[in-house]
Amino acid sequence: MLPLAEKMKVVAVGNQKGGVGKTTTALNLSAALAARGQRVLLIDLDPQANTTSGLGVECEGEDTVYPSLISDHDVRSCIRETGRDRLWLIPSHMDLAGVEIELARSDDHLTRLRGILQGLKPNDLFEYCILDTPPSLGVLMTSALAAADEVLVPLQCEWYGLEGLAKIVRVIDEIRDSGASPALRIEGIVMTMFDNRTNLARQVIEEVKNYFPQELYTTVIPRTVRISEAPSHSKTILEHDPTGTGATSYLSLAEEFLARHGVAAGV
Ligand code: ADP
Ligand code: MG
Repeated sequence: MLPLAEKMKVVAVGNQKGGVGKTTTALNLSAALAARGQRVLLIDLDPQANTTSGLGVECEGEDTVYPSLISDHDVRSCIRETGRDRLWLIPSHMDLAGVEIELARSDDHLTRLRGILQGLKPNDLFEYCILDTPPSLGVLMTSALAAADEVLVPLQCEWYGLEGLAKIVRVIDEIRDSGASPALRIEGIVMTMFDNRTNLARQVIEEVKNYFPQELYTTVIPRTVRISEAPSHSKTILEHDPTGTGATSYLSLAEEFLARHGVAAGV
């Protein structure tokens, strides 16, 4: 039995670029943390709802975090079971896109989500809250950063990934300096879709290591067909191909993540 979490840690999986592995990482890291004994609340903040469908959860518009963001609707009523031990989800739906317009009108839009999640912290329900974010720098993404204690940045092993990294680092600095999340920091950078056959991929990793030696995860996520096909079966990679390189790499990422947080992985 692990001790109860003193405080839920909120981790945004963020990179304003699309197609870099945010959803895949948010979903499979959450599943791997749950497999290692942590209670995880995954929140899908992307109106494309790929995390929600990837877990096989059906969502009507009103089940998202939307009503809690614009009214005093209790967010706990949106938390859904996923059918997996220790893994819960607040789902998304394309209607969530409307929140961008509605929230932008209010003065405190940046800190609404933070307020909601702070409300969950003292309840000892979850060790980690993982936020999957949309591929833009709109209100949902900046709200996620402002709500987070830490940001995990997935980065594709391509040169253009480095430009994206510079941008997200600037945005994180701006959010921290605005006072919205005063201790916000990059928790880690994880290289995704690694193709062993290209020198370029290795060069990009070396470059990131030069600039971010502390943040860069040793674990690299390989490009595999099994990872990309798992969501079409509504499965995490741990369920779809439990002994393959995709599953072992996400489990290894979770173990490295927990070691960084001073937690011995259970189960
Ligand atoms: P994002 O959320 O940043 O837009 P996704 O996680 O949805 O990115 O990934 C983009 C596409 O790449 C998806 O089709 C996904 O299945 C695929 N993909 C992600 N990671 C891998 C991987 N390690 N190997 C193969 N395909 C991957
Ligand atoms: Mg996504």
